[in-house]
Amino acid sequence: MRSVEEHQRAVADLIQARPPITVALADAEGLVLAADVIAPISLPVFDNSAMDGYAVLADDIVAAAPEAPVKLPVTEDIPAGRTDIPTLTPGTAHRIMTGAPIPHGADAVVPVEDTDGGLDVVQISATIPRGRHVRRSGGDVAAGATVLWARQLVSAPAAGLASALGLAELTVRPRQRVLVISTGSELVKPGTPLAPGQIYESNGVMLAAAVRDAGAEVVGAVTVADDTAEFTAVLDRYGVRDGAVDLVITSGGVSAGAYEVVKDVFGRDGDQGVHFVKVAMQPGMPQGIGRVGDAAIITLPGNPVSAQVSFEVFIRPALRRAMSLPKPDRPRRTAVLSEKLVSPAGKRQFRRGLLDYETGTVTNYGPPASHHLRYLASANCLLDIADEVTELAVGTEVEVWDLTG
Ligand code: AMP
Ligand code: MG
Repeated sequence: MRSVEEHQRAVADLIQARPPITVALADAEGLVLAADVIAPISLPVFDNSAMDGYAVLADDIVAAAPEAPVKLPVTEDIPAGRTDIPTLTPGTAHRIMTGAPIPHGADAVVPVEDTDGGLDVVQISATIPRGRHVRRSGGDVAAGATVLWARQLVSAPAAGLASALGLAELTVRPRQRVLVISTGSELVKPGTPLAPGQIYESNGVMLAAAVRDAGAEVVGAVTVADDTAEFTAVLDRYGVRDGAVDLVITSGGVSAGAYEVVKDVFGRDGDQGVHFVKVAMQPGMPQGIGRVGDAAIITLPGNPVSAQVSFEVFIRPALRRAMSLPKPDRPRRTAVLSEKLVSPAGKRQFRRGLLDYETGTVTNYGPPASHHLRYLASANCLLDIADEVTELAVGTEVEVWDLTG
């Protein structure tokens, strides 16, 4: 049996970064930049008003005071978006709105609050220094400056900045393209009545959601019967051998029974490029790993908790690393166990837990058997219990993986 760490390394080696691609801005959000971004223009693009008010020459209103307002004729009205830039004649004012271009010759904006708001003639009751309420071109970004850096996440504000600079595309580390295949002749889609012996499919929906949550792309989430022809047809349909998929995640069909479709297709002895191994963990012992064409293949056990915990332990960190995404690993911390637990010798056990962030205590949530999806569905952490540990007393410090982080 291989250790969890050994299999984590094998999966991390298997899932390789794709070459950078240039994508539309909307598709870049949440990905990591593969190149620095140089500002093609300055921001603000042009001198513009920071206030709704009146563009003036500061020298014209040096005498203004509440008891002695200065009167100026209003000769232009400049809303935001006006594209012809007027020239201010000394001794006049232009009514101007926030974001509108400062007229040539003006050097300050009087906020409307310091005026009577006049449309033909304005009374200004406060003096202001030259330059006040004028946002200068280049005051935020000078053209030619590096504004975003390679390896930086395209956050919402980073996407906003790129758009403000007029950039329609960014060069990023692309998402891993993942095909999820659930196997089992007993599986039925929700919305269809169940015949005796059938169950509703859960792994495909769950793993696809987990893939997206990890930042990768689901190119397909397909359920197939325990039928090798059907399984192979799905690999062909999605172009697994043609470079259209980076990772195939299968669930089920890898046990010791008959009708093990995944083992039957990929070959039990590794000659098809996929090896079936046992990992010293619970749940999730039977794992398969390999390659078909350029696509990485990871085969997960069918029990839903085994499949999902295996995804957390092996696939999520490897996918995030391959995309250079931040926080590839779930945040880990220790917490104080609130009830005693037993754990199998020689296996690293991942139990479902409820972590109380306030008190730093953790409660085991549900039995260890791997069909109890209900508990995992509401757990907020995994308890990570080392291979050699067989008993944990109340009050023991245990390592937990925060599934919300
Ligand atoms: P297997 O590894 O195919 O023998 O499956 C182990 C157990 O997990 C069986 O009880 C299956 O019915 C169940 N199982 C496998 N795949 C799924 C799935 N996609 N959704 C729900 N249960 C599944
Ligand atoms: Mg099965």
